[in-house]
Amino acid sequence: MKICIYPGSFDPVTCGHLDIIYRASKICDKLIVAVGNNESKKPLFTTEERVNLLKLALKDRPDIEIDSFSGLLIDYVKKRNADFVIKGLRALSDFEYEFQMALLNKNQDPNIETLFLVTSINYSYLSSSAVKELARNKGNIDGLVPDCIKDIIMKKFEDKR
Ligand code: ADP
Repeated sequence: MKICIYPGSFDPVTCGHLDIIYRASKICDKLIVAVGNNESKKPLFTTEERVNLLKLALKDRPDIEIDSFSGLLIDYVKKRNADFVIKGLRALSDFEYEFQMALLNKNQDPNIETLFLVTSINYSYLSSSAVKELARNKGNIDGLVPDCIKDIIMKKFEDKR
């Protein structure tokens, strides 16, 4: 049984993340989507909120587990007995960072393999920060995030105004 972990900030989850999640779920027996509890990144949504947004977006996929973790990814990977880490690649800029992280993780534990899935062309421009920038300025986020969480994201910025 191959267990994969797809880690990220998911602040908030976008259709680009969901695309990677659906595709990753086809190549592993169990997929765990893991929200990193990294306060130094100053996320807009709390870890609990980010987990809940993912749960809403994946409510029709009970086979996919949503979890959160603090500390080092490699420690979480070992704790969950996972075989692979899944990462998405949008552009060269992602590659440089992800390449470094994959090698660092391998240096810490040679058994940890990172699998990269290349973005679908429709989502290559899409990031959580772009969604936040649009929502902050009352832009249109249709088609960029799952429909069922669109209003929650827009409301977060209304509450902040
Ligand atoms: P961001 O980099 O937007 O803050 P995350 O840290 O939540 O996003 O990203 C988690 C993982 O998902 C990373 O491997 C990132 O490269 C990947 N990812 C994010 N957006 C996309 C997208 N639109 N297409 C493919 N992969 C993506």
